[in-house]
Amino acid sequence: MSVVQHWVGGAAFAGASTRTAPVYNPATGVAQREVLLATTADVDHAVATAKAAFPGWSGTSVAKRQAVMFAFREQLNARKDELAAILTNEHGKVLSDAGGEIARGLEVVELACSIPQLMKGEYSENVSTGVDVYSIRQALGVVGIISPFNFPAMVPLWFFPLAIAAGNTVVLKPSEKDPSAAIWMAELFKQCGLPDGVFNVVNGDKESVDALLEHPDVASISFVGSTPIAKYIYETASKHGKRVQALGGAKNHMLVLPDADLDLVADSAVNAGFGSAGERCMAISVVVAVEPVADALIEKIQSRMATLKVGDGTRNCDMGPLITDVHRDKVASYLEIAEQDGAEIVVDGRGIEVDGDPNGFWLGPTLIDKVPTSSKVYTEEIFGPVLSVVRVKSYDEGLALINGSQYGNGTAIFTNDGGAARRFQNEVTVGMVGINVPIPVPVGYYSFGGWKNSLFGDAKAYGTQAIPFFTREKAITSRWLDPSHGGINLGFPQN
Ligand code: NAD
Repeated sequence: MSVVQHWVGGAAFAGASTRTAPVYNPATGVAQREVLLATTADVDHAVATAKAAFPGWSGTSVAKRQAVMFAFREQLNARKDELAAILTNEHGKVLSDAGGEIARGLEVVELACSIPQLMKGEYSENVSTGVDVYSIRQALGVVGIISPFNFPAMVPLWFFPLAIAAGNTVVLKPSEKDPSAAIWMAELFKQCGLPDGVFNVVNGDKESVDALLEHPDVASISFVGSTPIAKYIYETASKHGKRVQALGGAKNHMLVLPDADLDLVADSAVNAGFGSAGERCMAISVVVAVEPVADALIEKIQSRMATLKVGDGTRNCDMGPLITDVHRDKVASYLEIAEQDGAEIVVDGRGIEVDGDPNGFWLGPTLIDKVPTSSKVYTEEIFGPVLSVVRVKSYDEGLALINGSQYGNGTAIFTNDGGAARRFQNEVTVGMVGINVPIPVPVGYYSFGGWKNSLFGDAKAYGTQAIPFFTREKAITSRWLDPSHGGINLGFPQN
């Protein structure tokens, strides 16, 4: 069986670890390769390599860094089908969805191509007589990125293009469940002229993550994953003096007002609930139906679900498998909880017929009505193709439900009432809001991030908030003396 190695200093790196993890094809259930799980010493080597590359790269002109970003953008776009095939092979998502993931990642590469504009400082002339003040932005040094399994290309792309364009060097630790996309992108970046050591990838689990969090030469950590780990990352990396952004889990609600276009709502709920088998942090997992719409809406959702083709992502299906059998079983266990808690399973995804290998990690689209808000089906992030319906009597009751959630990643309102939508955008305590848009992932030049337990730290990912995160600002006060000037004055200079 082949082994996925690390990528350090512009070449594959085996390191010293003897520990490995299996990498499955979730559509067949077959462990197709293994991935090395780095030791602390392997991480030390990657960080030392990135540190050695930092002076050269941060000192490279911004025009040359920009040229490398343009080359990377062109190549990534030209070869996106190769990357999509890797994503489908190791993650399971269908090929069209893998293409969508890459397109969203490319947006951030395109933003990174405008790095000369993004890095500009400020200048104030003559703040005092003959004194000018200006600011410059400088890269942090070695930055660490730790990413989840569900977007093996897009989530790393949220961070490394902007971090690198700004002059930093990177050590990325992708998910050990689908590590090949990160290695592929690192190789491609080298071919585009990125100097060796600027972008390094270390594969691994908790040992490698902890080594990054504690390493004195790592300046910042950008993390995306589940809430308990995000909290741990935030606390541990902060304790070790690092700048941290740690994006966590989600439970995204879609509030449906009685005046909404129910066909649009049903399409949106199905797309946002079951796309990527529900393994998206911006998936809709709860439809909050303001009565009297629930019965009609459920009928429309159910009829659309009946048309979904589940199977191997390479076979033109709508929805693929889940990431592992363990995760599939955990997601399926929520159906038993739903039954025990008195909810109504409208569509049961267990035992679904698929277009693919029966040993794949399958669970079909599932719809559960009348989910009690005390049930774990409602309170916990399920992260699978399970859509819950909660019926409420009013906008206020729906809003209170959404605002009562520990998560605040994404939400959506569906209505034809502009006043209600405007009220919702003002009153809801969630970081990304859709108005008749079910998955409101901001475009590359805004920033992505939730509120509450969906984001620890004060910087969101990519967009306008990335440059302040990946750089330090320096303010310079400058005076070029007239040769005749002199004298002693111990007070603060005044105008
Ligand atoms: P995860 O938290 O299990 O793993 C994320 C990363 O942390 C991986 O690289 C993993 O190797 C590492 N890790 C896991 N356990 C660790 C531990 N005990 N100590 C140190 N490191 C550890 O998440 P996942 O299952 O890969 O991804 C799914 C989760 O990510 C979901 O909760 C989803 O909502 C969330 N997510 C959030 C966003 C967002 O933008 N908020 C985006 C994508 C995914």
